[in-house]
Amino acid sequence: KTRLSRFVGRIQPSKTSETHALALELQRQGRDIVTTLTVGEPDFDPPQPVLDAVVEAAKTGKTRYTPVGGWYELKEAICNDYARRKGVQYEAGKHVLITHGGKQALFCAIMGLCDAGDEVVVPAPYWVSYPEIVRLSGAKPIIVDRQPSKDYILSPEDLRAALSPRTRILILCNPCNPTGCTYTEAELEGLAAVLREPQFRHVLVLSDEIYERLTYDGLEHKSFASIPGMFERTMIVNGFSKGYAMTGFRLAYLASPDERIMSAALKLQSQLNSCASSISQFAGIAALTQVPDEMLVPLYDQLRVKRDSIVSALRDIPHVVCPVPRGAFYVFPDVSYYLSKGFKSKSGRAISSATDLCSYLIQDHGLALPPGDAFGAAYGVRFSYAAAQSEIDKAVTRFRAGLEELL
Ligand code: PLP
Repeated sequence: KTRLSRFVGRIQPSKTSETHALALELQRQGRDIVTTLTVGEPDFDPPQPVLDAVVEAAKTGKTRYTPVGGWYELKEAICNDYARRKGVQYEAGKHVLITHGGKQALFCAIMGLCDAGDEVVVPAPYWVSYPEIVRLSGAKPIIVDRQPSKDYILSPEDLRAALSPRTRILILCNPCNPTGCTYTEAELEGLAAVLREPQFRHVLVLSDEIYERLTYDGLEHKSFASIPGMFERTMIVNGFSKGYAMTGFRLAYLASPDERIMSAALKLQSQLNSCASSISQFAGIAALTQVPDEMLVPLYDQLRVKRDSIVSALRDIPHVVCPVPRGAFYVFPDVSYYLSKGFKSKSGRAISSATDLCSYLIQDHGLALPPGDAFGAAYGVRFSYAAAQSEIDKAVTRFRAGLEELL
């Protein structure tokens, strides 16, 4: 048996990817499975200027290594974008690293800062990769539960209780995958007030803002870096995967005014992948300079319509508790009632966890969903509603039928 490294032994594979792979395999075997609500990507195409830029990049020789940290023009476009929309001013030359996707930006920040003995506060339900990347660094994820009854917003009290002299980073995902919860400025201010307390001044914030363009109900996303006193202590992760539907481009960035952090992240990138794809970077410049907000808003409006339809359908199912997500394209209903009653399916499956429920739903009702256990919240399941309306309708109908069969 080949001996593998302790490094790789510290982590689990992505459970959301596993769910998707199982669903595709069952489909391949000829089963009728709704798979589209498992994946976290928009169902629209990148805007036309982005696609045109891909062709232009290829034709004009933008096909070589770029500087390790990315092209200056892209960094400048990012700085202008954050200044315009968020009121936060970064310097292109010093404060921005272009990465091969947001996952790598998170990886560079966490691996650049954390060691064994350090702690990183991760509010749950969390995006599956946060605790795993923290574990890779040797640090310990400190999981803080957030409640559906509080719309999954992290409270200042719960944050305070999770912090310690060993805390290096608080990871804040806003808007959040998997809950869709989005913080108001006042809620962010409440968290910042805790971080300003003298005993917590050593704590940094990794603000994952990758869904920031996707907010609803007139809620304007505020960057954590724009909260008074937080600019110096905040690292931003953002990218092109979600707002511009550019998941396959693998293009994102890390930004911080702390030059020590940025040089550590750059050093990691220099040994990891040399630079993000040149073609993607060229397309990223087009996204930020040639795609007006008006071109994107109708796409986001469609997501809001889908959110409204799925939330109202889920809320209509007996005993399902479904907070209204105000951002991203996820909804994370609490189905604990169905997990706590010792229910058995007609096919004889005992249902006592979200994993049991999701195995039952995929096998008996042809619906693939990632179970909440994967997100540190064993009472729920995640729906990604960036899918065709017909798929959403089918998914909700099957979900309802599956739950009602248990009653
Ligand atoms: N952060 C969150 C919260 C995400 O949901 C994702 C993707 O699912 C990412 C970061 C990483 O996105 P990418 O690596 O495609 O840029």
